[in-house]
Parts: sequence; C-alpha cells; structure tokens
Amino acid sequence: MYTLDDTIAAISTPLGQGGIGIVRLSGDEALAIGRRLFRPATSWRGNGIEPNRLYYGHVVAPGTGHRVDEVLLSYMAAPHSFTRQDVVEINAHGGPVPLREILALCLAEGARLAREGEFTLRAFLNGRIDLAQAEAVLDIIRSRTEAALRMAVAQLSGRLSQRVRVIRADLLHVLAYLEASADLEEDIPPQDIAPDLERARTLLTDLLRESDRGMIYRQGVRTAIVGRPNVGKSSLLNAMLRTDRAIVTPIPGTTRDTLEETLDLQGIPFVLVDTAGITETEDVIERLGVARSRRSIEGADLILVVLDGSERPTEADHQVAALAEGRPAVVVVNKSDLPPASDGRDLLPGAPHVHLSALTGDGLPALEETMLQVVLSGQVATSDAPVSSSPRHCELFRRALEHVLEAQCALGEGLPEDLVAIDVTEAVAALGEVTGETVAEDLLEAIFSEFCIGK
Ligand code: GDP
Repeated sequence: MYTLDDTIAAISTPLGQGGIGIVRLSGDEALAIGRRLFRPATSWRGNGIEPNRLYYGHVVAPGTGHRVDEVLLSYMAAPHSFTRQDVVEINAHGGPVPLREILALCLAEGARLAREGEFTLRAFLNGRIDLAQAEAVLDIIRSRTEAALRMAVAQLSGRLSQRVRVIRADLLHVLAYLEASADLEEDIPPQDIAPDLERARTLLTDLLRESDRGMIYRQGVRTAIVGRPNVGKSSLLNAMLRTDRAIVTPIPGTTRDTLEETLDLQGIPFVLVDTAGITETEDVIERLGVARSRRSIEGADLILVVLDGSERPTEADHQVAALAEGRPAVVVVNKSDLPPASDGRDLLPGAPHVHLSALTGDGLPALEETMLQVVLSGQVATSDAPVSSSPRHCELFRRALEHVLEAQCALGEGLPEDLVAIDVTEAVAALGEVTGETVAEDLLEAIFSEFCIGK
C-alpha cells in the first residue's frame, strides 16, 4: 500500500494568506522536477543546485514560460533529509493561489500528491525515526501548552523509545533463554529469569503511571462549566481566561463547531468548552439550563458546578449538581461580592467548594489551585515533565504489563517454560508496536491518517 519509490509533493504550510508558504517534494525525482520548474535569478557558479543551499529565483511554468512566483528553493540530498530521500522545498509567497499553482506544476512534472502524513511516514519507513517519534511530530504540531510541547520534543528525540527498548531488550533476553531451554532439550545452564521479569514489571509500571499523567498534559482536561442560567457561567469563563496565567488560544472544537479556549495552569491545558457562551433568551426556562448542563458534562474530565451564592439554591441547582455526582467536580459558589444567602454546602458535599466572585476576580486563584489538585489527585505538579504518551501507548503498556504479570504467575507456579514464553512473547510484541518494530499496516494507516497533508 505504501510505496517509497515515487516522488510525492504537497503544500506543507497551512493554507491561507501568510508571508511564505512551502511546497515540498520528496523522492528520486524531486531534484529533477525542481530543476525543470525553477529559474535562478542570476547565473551561479558550480554545477547547478547543490544540497543545503538556498537559491533565489522564480518558478516558471515550463509550457508557457510564465512566471508563477518569486521563490527560494532548497535541496536536501538523501539521506540527509527529513525523509532520508531527496527533498526539495520551494518557499513561495504564502497565498493559496501561488502555492496551488506551484503544486499543480509539480504534479504535472510527475510528482504524486502526498497523502496525510506521508513525509513523516517515509521518515519512519526509512528508519530515520521510529513510530513513537513519528507520533511526536503530530504532538508537537498539536501541543496546547509549553509543557506539552516539551514532552513531545523529548519524545521526538527518542526518550520514550529508548525506555521502551530497554524493557523490550530485557524481555527478549528472557525469551531467548526460555525458548532455548524449551526447544533444545539439552542442558543449558539454569538461569533465574525472575529478577529480569520483575525489573520489566517495575519499569513498565513506572512508564504506565507517567503516561497516564502525560495524557493529561497532552490532551488537556476537558472542563465543563455548568449551572442554571444567570449564576455567572459566562462571567466565570471570561474571568478565568483573563488571568495572567491563561494563554488564550481559540482552537476549533474537534467534533462540533464550538470554540474551545485553553487555560494553561502549570503546564496542564484545561480545555474550557465554551458552551456557556451560547446566548440564552430572556424567557428561558430553567429546565433548559439543566438539559444544556447534561450535554456539556458528557465527555468532560472535570466539571465546574456554578451556583449563585447570593440566592438560595433552587431545584435546578440541585438537578445540575446531581448530574456531577460521582464525577471529578468543583462547586463554585459565585457572587461572593454580594451578601451571601447560602454556602452551597449541601450541594455535592463530597466535592471541594470554592467561594469567589467572577465579577471582581476575588477567589479565582483558589479555584485554579483546586482544579489542579483535583486533576493531579492531590499530587503537587512537579517540574519534570512526565513522558508524553498517547492512548495508544498507554494501551500497549497496559497490555505488556498484563502479560509480564501473567508470565510471573506462570513462573511462580512452576508451569512449563513454553507457557511462560507465550506471555513474554506477547509483551515483547506490544512494546514493539510502540516504536513500530512490529506493527501492522492498517495501524500505520490509522496513525498517519491523523496527520494533515504536507506533514
Ligand atoms: P450565565 O447565564 O450563568 O452564563 O451567567 P452570566 O455570566 O451571564 O451572569 C449573569 C449575571 O450575573 C450577569 O448580570 C453578571 O454580570 C452577573 N454576575 C456574574 N458573576 C457575578 C459576580 O461574581 N458578582 C456579581 N455581583 N454579579 C455577577
């Protein structure tokens, strides 16, 4: 399904109007195609286009001779490029029309339009990066906070892969021993593999714990702000996004066309889903508030239940609070600048309560502190970033750990070595899928289809 021997091309910068935009080519024909389209502004000494230099000139349509755009062209020769193939990049002006025209010329000259993530896929297939590193490229592009970016960059540098390889190598060692002693029926020196298995178990447990935390940094904490109308949800959202600690980046929602705003608290992205911004009509009945709360609670990792502390809780307040029962939640008793009518203590008594005023900003830091505490379950966020991880990695670590535990059990019960070996083999396979040593083509397809074209 994947070929490496044709030359691919794509616009590698986001479509839209920008200072520059880049059309990228990778493959055997990249340089030849670049040469046919590029006319240098001045004649240069030397033999045409040399690697790792920037050439100034124009892209000229071969048929008509008309100048498409003024560009800079660079060439990175295999294997010293991102894909380990010949790569040519044409830096043009960043408008959709010139870029599309240049891309069309590349295709007319024999390149094929790259599929999603195909440049990164080639880097992976050519052994320049492993699968976990390829996924890190995606994470870097998508990172929402600096901490998430740091983790992804570490993953790209191979930090995660290295740790996985150490465990896998240990297990392969165990496997080699088990297979030898099961197959060969000859006496090989007895070896105690229990310590090796135990070490693999410990390392995997660490990795899994860090990955779980890493997921929070990577994916963010989806935070729903719920409550009946007029308790101050919109005001709270705005107040939180106005604080110094907030990096406000509107990111289009993945599923619907809602806007999501990200609040960066100590590197953890809290994705505030802006359903509170929906305008409510004057005659809105309170039931509507409850229905809306129910919708935004779905899929949320953290729920902020907002109450109006200047009024006695209503039936609707109780209904909204009931929706958050048993979920990670914080009760926000708003409007603390007004004379209090209720401390809201009988609503969600198990959850932390924070009194604040969205109007004056009083109490906001306490809310942020509480949100962090709930998410990190009381752990104080440490400055060393946990390993970046995807749900895919977590699942594989979990699977590997299960099989190591099974192998330990089998060994402890004195079961035959080939039975122990079955579980060790499974664990090795799971770890191989993290870095891509053993990985099915349909999985690659799924992973790389998440990328955009041009990556
Ligand atoms: P929502 O319907 O829950 O989103 O509530 P809004 O944020 O629209 O607020 C409803 C009303 O309460 C508005 O008139 C706000 O100005 C007011 N309000 C919100 N927060 C506070 C607060 O902390 N103190 C006071 N005094 N008024 C507030």
